[in-house]
Amino acid sequence: MSAIKHYIRSFALWELLQGLAVTGKYFFARKITVQYPEEKTPQSFRFRGLHALRRYPDGTERCIACKLCEAVCPAMAISIDLAEREDGSRRTTRYDIDLTKCIFCGFCEEACPVDAIVETRVLEYHGEKRGDLHYTKDMLLAVGERYEAQIAKDKAQDARYR
Ligand code: SF4
Ligand code: SF4
Repeated sequence: MSAIKHYIRSFALWELLQGLAVTGKYFFARKITVQYPEEKTPQSFRFRGLHALRRYPDGTERCIACKLCEAVCPAMAISIDLAEREDGSRRTTRYDIDLTKCIFCGFCEEACPVDAIVETRVLEYHGEKRGDLHYTKDMLLAVGERYEAQIAKDKAQDARYR
């Protein structure tokens, strides 16, 4: 009996009809493909994109050169040198992140006691050669200055959910 059923199904191209039914179903369904880059998907306020170093509103660098971010980084992507400021506090003389090593885990941001190093929502950046993705302190501070409004907003929202 099953052999007869099999032959009838084969003759009627049953599998092909089943496949066409699936195609037909999705042909008329609402499309969910996003036309990137014209269209974008929603981003979380905890999105982990390009790094930034932040300043306080008076322009002072937040970073106190405690090196916690450097110690916690599993990819060893952060390199910090430091010196003493005139007021006795510490500051970085070098703060580099090698983004070719970074795995965007967010540990550096979590470890920072003063919210100095953060990951922004920026994901559209590139380098044309290896060195272009080696971000120096000046580059990171420039990113921070450019996106400070969004960073502060995201940090406030993050604090509400903790
Ligand atoms: S996001 Fe993770 S891997 Fe990247 S620099 Fe921070 S701690 Fe290191
Ligand atoms: S960015 Fe934060 S964790 Fe890293 S050295 Fe500066 S203060 Fe410490």
